Amino acid sequence: MNFSSRASQPLALFGGPKCVESESKDLFHWPIVTVEDEQAVLEVLRAGTMSGTGITKQFEAEFAKWMGVNYALASCNGTASLHEAMWACGVGAGDEVICPSMTYWASCAAALTLGATVNFCDIERDSLCLDPRDFERRISPKTKAVIVVHYAGYPADMDAILPIARRHGVKVIEDVSHAQGSLYKGRMCGTMGDIAGISLMAGKSFAIGEGGMMLTNDKTLFERCVAFGHYERTGVSTRWTDKTKTLDDPELARYAGLPMFGVKHRINQTCSAMGRVQLRHYPARIAVIQKALNRFWDLLEGTPGLRAHRPPKDSGSTMGGWYFARGLYRAEELGGLPIAAFCEAVRAEGVGVCSPGCNTPLHNHPLFHTADIFGMGRPTALSFGQRDVRQGTGALPVSETISEAVIGVPWFKHDRPEIIERYAAAYRKVALRAGELRKKSAEDKKQTLAA
Ligand SMILES: *Cc1c(COP(=O)(O)O)cnc(C)c1O
Repeated sequence: MNFSSRASQPLALFGGPKCVESESKDLFHWPIVTVEDEQAVLEVLRAGTMSGTGITKQFEAEFAKWMGVNYALASCNGTASLHEAMWACGVGAGDEVICPSMTYWASCAAALTLGATVNFCDIERDSLCLDPRDFERRISPKTKAVIVVHYAGYPADMDAILPIARRHGVKVIEDVSHAQGSLYKGRMCGTMGDIAGISLMAGKSFAIGEGGMMLTNDKTLFERCVAFGHYERTGVSTRWTDKTKTLDDPELARYAGLPMFGVKHRINQTCSAMGRVQLRHYPARIAVIQKALNRFWDLLEGTPGLRAHRPPKDSGSTMGGWYFARGLYRAEELGGLPIAAFCEAVRAEGVGVCSPGCNTPLHNHPLFHTADIFGMGRPTALSFGQRDVRQGTGALPVSETISEAVIGVPWFKHDRPEIIERYAAAYRKVALRAGELRKKSAEDKKQTLAA
């Protein structure tokens, strides 16, 4: 049966045949781990060099080369990479960082521990990335940095963001945790701003266990990141008697031997070893993912109520490893069918991953309003001379309603045309029969009222 005939059968929810009869686990399994990864990790274990840095430095050099930047510094997780990047950019007591509200908390939460506060901005409805106009509107003399998240693999609008940031002297920190390998008009995400932080944890597209990577072309920023939490890389031994200096900045070199922030960001080398192997295969593997998801979305082109979350074709922009694959849901094109009813019907077709929403907006969370992290008797967001930029419900309309307009789609790891057609048919069938679902929703409601 072909795609269109499958999509025109009765809904499985009402007893019709399912589009996807059984889900094959390996179609979605990630990361792909082979004996090559196992050998590399075993070598570290057998040599007992888990806490060394030799393999990590090789991983960093290869990662930097792949990205096309001068400096890469691995950490124990992506949160640590973003934390050191913020401090490197000069974020400190009383300052502000601007960050989209709809992202994972680690994009910005560490700003509070630097004595800064987060001025949350809104996102664009189609890209799910930071809205450049809202970013510009929020810049104040206290703004030190903007955190640009390439959300769910989609490259943010850097051509709009970078000139605004430069004009106002605001540093650009790219959060590339969703977008390893994504291109923005031919340029690698993570190489366009001043500095980047990247998660490499096991659930991400570039998955090596627990790990993070900082990228920059700026030597000063690199040295500040080293000084922050990589004491073993500052050039003196832990006994701080060996004065072999590697940090050029004299102010940072004074503290060599100890981490300036009192934290330890070193990555476990079993992860670095796996990272080196993963990197060798990553470009080819994400090319397959892109082929598969582009195939899925090409089939759905023109389907009412659904839009691909991907940059325009021929723009030179790509979705990288297509992490956290999402689609855009437009209820208004389906007579107002609630997204939950749509998803329920797609799941009945055998597509387990179809559920509404993305990350919950952060600007309402009490952590950014009332948390007294330092025991100072007042909210940390206000304890260090910050402006009060706390915002409640209603402040960021797109972020607050986006979960009604975003839908989960299968994150294919292999390009299997016949099975991808079945998945796409499930979404199309439900969209084409939205009328039947609206009728059911209305009847369900009547029954509930009568009962
Ligand atoms: C996962 C993630 C991080 C944090 O990375 P960890 O490696 O889990 O510490 C930061 N930002 C975003 C957007 C993420 O998704």
